[in-house]
Amino acid sequence: MNPYLVQRLQPFGTTIFAEMSALAVETGAINLGQGFPDTDGPAVMKQAAIDAIEAGYNQYPPGIGIPELRTAISAHQRRFYGLEYDSGTEVLVTAGATEAIAAALLALCGPGDEVVTFEPYYDSYAACIAMSGASRCVVTLRAPDYAFDPDDLRGAITPRTKLILLNSPHNPTGKVFSRAELTLLAELAQEHDLLVVTDEVYEHLVYDGEHVPIATLPDMRDRTVAIGSGGKSFSFTGWKVGWVCARPELVAAVKTAKQFLTYVSSGPFQYAIAVGLALPDHYFTRFRVEMRDKRDRLCAGLAAAGFEVLQPQGTYFATVDIRSFGETDGLAFCRALPHRCGVVAVPSVVFYDDVVAGAPLVRFACCKRTEVLDEACTRLKNLAR
Ligand code: PMP
Ligand code: GLN
Repeated sequence: MNPYLVQRLQPFGTTIFAEMSALAVETGAINLGQGFPDTDGPAVMKQAAIDAIEAGYNQYPPGIGIPELRTAISAHQRRFYGLEYDSGTEVLVTAGATEAIAAALLALCGPGDEVVTFEPYYDSYAACIAMSGASRCVVTLRAPDYAFDPDDLRGAITPRTKLILLNSPHNPTGKVFSRAELTLLAELAQEHDLLVVTDEVYEHLVYDGEHVPIATLPDMRDRTVAIGSGGKSFSFTGWKVGWVCARPELVAAVKTAKQFLTYVSSGPFQYAIAVGLALPDHYFTRFRVEMRDKRDRLCAGLAAAGFEVLQPQGTYFATVDIRSFGETDGLAFCRALPHRCGVVAVPSVVFYDDVVAGAPLVRFACCKRTEVLDEACTRLKNLAR
């Protein structure tokens, strides 16, 4: 309890990622907690960022993002999904997806409104909904397959519901929403005249199934605010270049909030992300295959260590149920793990309102070098029960 912190932010304290990464530094443990790669992305992108700095692109970029990047985002949406967005009026560059989520929620909902989202949810969703003054209504994705009950979703929608906040591929579960699930969501959005804000930062990290942007479903483009990020697709999570694609009125609304958060960010990196988005298809294919191999390696190692692994279809993450290991409290388990065996993971319970559902689940990141994954799995295998 911090007496200075306003009431609506009291539940949020310090993010679990900061807590667990600090624990990793303090103990020297292998960090499979916070999702960031331990290798850099394409050299050509690093060079593009250096070139942009050397060329003097070091002052404020335009508020909506540099034209080269907006054009590249628009071309990327067309190339991969057949979605057309006008780079002048329907694309907005943000300080990572994090700012896009915040700006979208601050712009599109407020006190008295309700936001429907799925739990477990990425931690910034709850905080940004709270900052907007709206309330959250969660629908639980139930382990082991992370399906949701359509009646739970219907029941979560009320006359106050303003928007559905969707994340697919989904952090922390690795779930990739199926076309049938997204169709149900789309039908409900249309029936109740809701907006959909969709966080697709792991769009290129789908190993089983396909990524279906909900904006591609019939009549959904104009009620969807699609959010992407260069961090995950190019392994440069520190560059913080994200974006929003939506129809002009929605982009204008999000821009109004965004301009008072950061105004602009990441000038030289915007040039580099534009280069990345234009990389040939084989970059994206190879990246996915490499990450799928890491997913498989981590999942096999966790299973060999005695955990029940909830196989992810995409993203950086794999989840285990620690009851298979004779434990029940994921938070206590994660706080002790670096001291017990030199590995850091994230307790999924922090992403749940339903703490009973989340208590035994623990998330491990697979976006690390194979030798690091192997060493972590060896340590977990030797972990005394
Ligand atoms: N959404 C999800 C689901 C994430 O996992 C993350 C973080 N990695 C973000 C948004 C934030 O992305 P960015 O780093 O581009 O702000
Ligand atoms: N998205 C990353 C994760 O889920 C972390 C980003 C952050 O630290 N906020 O691990």
